[in-house]
Amino acid sequence: MNYREPLFRPPAEAESLIFQVAYGCPHNTCRFCAMYKYSRYEEREYDEVLADFKKAAKSYPETQRIFLADGDVMILPFEKLQKYLMKLNDLFPRLTRVNVYANGSSILSKTKEQLCELRQLKLHTLYLGLETGDEELLKLVNKGETAEKMIDAVRISQECGLRCSVMVLLGLGGKKGSGKHALETAMALNKMQPKLLSALRYVEVPGTKMFSGYETVSEYEAVCELRKIIENLELERTVFRANHASNPVPMEGRFPNDKARILAELDYLIARGGLDRNGPGQLPFFL
Ligand code: SF4
Repeated sequence: MNYREPLFRPPAEAESLIFQVAYGCPHNTCRFCAMYKYSRYEEREYDEVLADFKKAAKSYPETQRIFLADGDVMILPFEKLQKYLMKLNDLFPRLTRVNVYANGSSILSKTKEQLCELRQLKLHTLYLGLETGDEELLKLVNKGETAEKMIDAVRISQECGLRCSVMVLLGLGGKKGSGKHALETAMALNKMQPKLLSALRYVEVPGTKMFSGYETVSEYEAVCELRKIIENLELERTVFRANHASNPVPMEGRFPNDKARILAELDYLIARGGLDRNGPGQLPFFL
């Protein structure tokens, strides 16, 4: 397969067959994200993508999981998505799920009937970056989405049987905005009730440019912020993970059963005194 770099996928898609149906991100304005900063958005031609599907079907006919890239595949017109999914179903008889990155407004550009139809065609998990439930902060970081819309998008998708994997970003509000970011994020998540929730941490890398007055939270503050989010979550059935390389400590569990255990682990970490209070702590070399 010929991929155009950079190519990103969620950690859970490590075993999936990946096709790029577009290159880059159609929005590309978020201050905290450098993923596609140096690439121009381009939707690929249908025939070109179809040729990739056919070629891969010859080499990997047993494929069950497919991830369609790049940055916001749900922005494609319904008819094009439908055609891609129909082809994938034809070419890969053992296909069980097709997963994509999605934004709130691109999900809401489809009707509920269309979302249900895409689900019938094995569209399965939508990875959506809520980042924060704080509407003011979403504007400050140029997300181009409102929390209210993203809540609607997740609720409607899940009503159609799609699974939403929602990401939030620790440290996004900086030192001053940390408390509000944590509380409003928990409130938005409670309204969404996502099936999957991931906490990542904002880390400054080339290509990111935060709003004026932004001060990076320390490792200690990031963990306290995560504690505040967890404490305020009232999730009925969600798998939670904070095991991305950007996190100070890897953790995971299921809500509601593991909430008390996760809080206890965070309390232990905070009380133990080993967290960096002046900087971000030890970060992996690639961040
Ligand atoms: S966070 Fe998502 S929508 Fe924003 S620039 Fe990055 S890939 Fe695009």
